[in-house]
Amino acid sequence: MRIGLLGGTFDPVHIGHLVMAEEARLRMGLERVLFIPAGAQWMKTAGEISPSDARAEMVRAAIADNPAFELSLVDVERPGPTYSVDTLRLLRDQLGQATELFFILGQDALEQMPEWHLPREMLRLCTLVVMPRPGVPPLDWDALERRLLGVRERSRFLGDAPQVQVSATEVRRRITAGESVRYLVPEAVLEVIRRRGLYRN
Ligand code: ATP
Repeated sequence: MRIGLLGGTFDPVHIGHLVMAEEARLRMGLERVLFIPAGAQWMKTAGEISPSDARAEMVRAAIADNPAFELSLVDVERPGPTYSVDTLRLLRDQLGQATELFFILGQDALEQMPEWHLPREMLRLCTLVVMPRPGVPPLDWDALERRLLGVRERSRFLGDAPQVQVSATEVRRRITAGESVRYLVPEAVLEVIRRRGLYRN
């Protein structure tokens, strides 16, 4: 079995996330893609991030109509800071050795990976599926390889994937400013945002 993992803050989940998950599913022949919201304990100061249940509810609403997409609460339910390497180990144990794991991430996130906890171990546990992200400088693979040996070989860069220039930061800014985010987040997510009064400050 081939399973994709898409971790994120998802504050809120937006069409950039959905496009990358679907593209990874299609191109890598994944049976399922798990959306894994980060636990709130990741953030330095409380209040910087919406509560886990709100972020999980938005993900649930966003993916409800795609039978290949699934919400995973592994990181939300674990106490303390959660490292991606531990998430991978946990899912490997849960899903079994026969399952191949594909860690989906944007190129901006990949650039940070050398600073993550045990990045070499992560490369051992999964294949990275890297998405281009508009508005960020092109990936310098040589420089990245110097910071994280073996990363290139363990990555599939989907350079011709559809690109959507949207970020959760911009979505939050627009909502706070009273501007439209129609089509940037699915309608079902907008409903959750409205009902919970998120990002209005
Ligand atoms: P924020 O603006 O709050 O930093 P974000 O939009 O980057 O949020 P995250 O939840 O932090 O969203 O992202 C989770 C993953 O999705 C990361 O790997 C990130 O690189 C990737 N990602 C998010 N938006 C896009 C996009 N528009 N195109 C490609 N990758 C994206």
